[in-house]
Amino acid sequence: MSSLKLPFAPSAEQIRARLETMKIAQLRAGAPSLELRKDRIDRAIDLLDTHRDALIDAVRADYGSRSRQQTLLADILTPIEGLRFNRDHLDEWMRAQSSFEPFPGTRAWVEHQPLGVVGIISPWNFPIVLAFGPLASAFAAGNRAMLKPSELTPGTSELICELIARYFDADEFTTVLGGPETGATFSAQAFDHLIFTGSTQVAHHIMRAASDNLVPVTLELGGKSPVIVAPDADLRRAAERVLTVKTFNAGQICLSPDYVLLQAGREDEFVEYARASVARMYSTMRDNADYTSMVNVAGFERQHALIADALDKGARVVNLAPPGEDLSDPAIRKVAPSLIVDATDSMRVMQEEIFGPLLPVVTYETLGDAIAYVNAHPRPLALYLFSDKQDVREQVAAHTTSGAMVVNDAMTHVFVDALPFGGVGASGMGHYHGEYGFRSLSHAKPVLLQSEGAETNLLMRAPYPKGVEPAIEERISA
Ligand code: NAD
Repeated sequence: MSSLKLPFAPSAEQIRARLETMKIAQLRAGAPSLELRKDRIDRAIDLLDTHRDALIDAVRADYGSRSRQQTLLADILTPIEGLRFNRDHLDEWMRAQSSFEPFPGTRAWVEHQPLGVVGIISPWNFPIVLAFGPLASAFAAGNRAMLKPSELTPGTSELICELIARYFDADEFTTVLGGPETGATFSAQAFDHLIFTGSTQVAHHIMRAASDNLVPVTLELGGKSPVIVAPDADLRRAAERVLTVKTFNAGQICLSPDYVLLQAGREDEFVEYARASVARMYSTMRDNADYTSMVNVAGFERQHALIADALDKGARVVNLAPPGEDLSDPAIRKVAPSLIVDATDSMRVMQEEIFGPLLPVVTYETLGDAIAYVNAHPRPLALYLFSDKQDVREQVAAHTTSGAMVVNDAMTHVFVDALPFGGVGASGMGHYHGEYGFRSLSHAKPVLLQSEGAETNLLMRAPYPKGVEPAIEERISA
């Protein structure tokens, strides 16, 4: 495979020229065959599988400390399974829907056509899966792709770029490296579709830039995903499962449980179960490779600023780190998992996406109050409900809107490729994963074959004979 790498932070002209070459190549070649799509997907799987250790090391070096198992699960296995799922179902998704006869003698059907070249902008928190996940949908739908990974995991982004250049032709899949300015230049290009994974704040810029070329966008954003612990819930189980996900990647996850809604009076019990569950997972933290660092000093300092602000405004902060653990060193960047009890809306932890291991606990009186609280805030990427009662599940499902809902766990849905993945409202727009990604990145083109007599054409042809109007009337009143 030959590949021409773009320089770091390429100019708008350089990105535009590369995009143009890719678009021309796509038009010349036409829609890729099933075999070529599978071959591209297989090469992406091979890249991840063959270079998994180098990729895991690169992510660990960027983070300072990042659990090998977390990277293996979330950034290697998950994209490989997503790519495989696409490869194994592509045949059935690509098959043209059988034709039908909308008017006598005519035939009509739908063909799913590639859009062309898809731009992918990815964040740092899962730097591999959030590049190769959207890629799986782009390749399955027969598109080519250009990726702009995050500058905050520079070693991983550079390695991804090197590997992509080895496994793919430059007009098939290519990478643009650089920071926010490069991202801004990238998002202003005339892609056939743009998938952005990142913050709601930056999404405003993306959508504005894309609108100049009327580029359709999929926005995979974050926000504050609530956990409703219903009055009937088993608190020990809820605390254990929530803290498992909260401490995964030290909370640096778009789907991390962002706050817990708990019935008033159960706080102390919840604190004790949370403390016990963290103690079972992490006997130490500072030098424990299983516990991940904040990605940079700014992230570390931000968590401490959130704690200081909450304390200042009257919260009780419960540090769940093992007793005596010193996590003050900004060079190590580890933050103690902490509950922020008595959190209120005046606190930054309840205003901003936390993206760290802090977990505010907000109390409610009735389940209706908890639902009303969720609905008074922007629509979250996911809502987690702990309850064993069917009527409670139905009530919460019917009265809240979120990207996804998981009952009696958190985040599990992201691993299911057959489900659509995406946000709603402030947490995003559009879906990918599996068939939903295939459809989002395809153009559903209707094709119609007119009958010999072209009766529907005659219906529009002047001068209109006497029988036309009664025929139209008959259909109106049918
Ligand atoms: P970010 O929005 O700061 O950056 C994401 C990407 O956008 C990076 O590649 C960055 O270089 C680029 N960028 C920055 N400014 C830009 C601009 N003005 N124009 C164009 N591109 C620009 O996000 P982040 O800090 O890398 O990631 C964390 C955020 O991502 C969180 O909000 C999290 O919830 C969200 N996220 C969402 C999902 C999801 O699937 N929904 C997954 C992971 C992370």
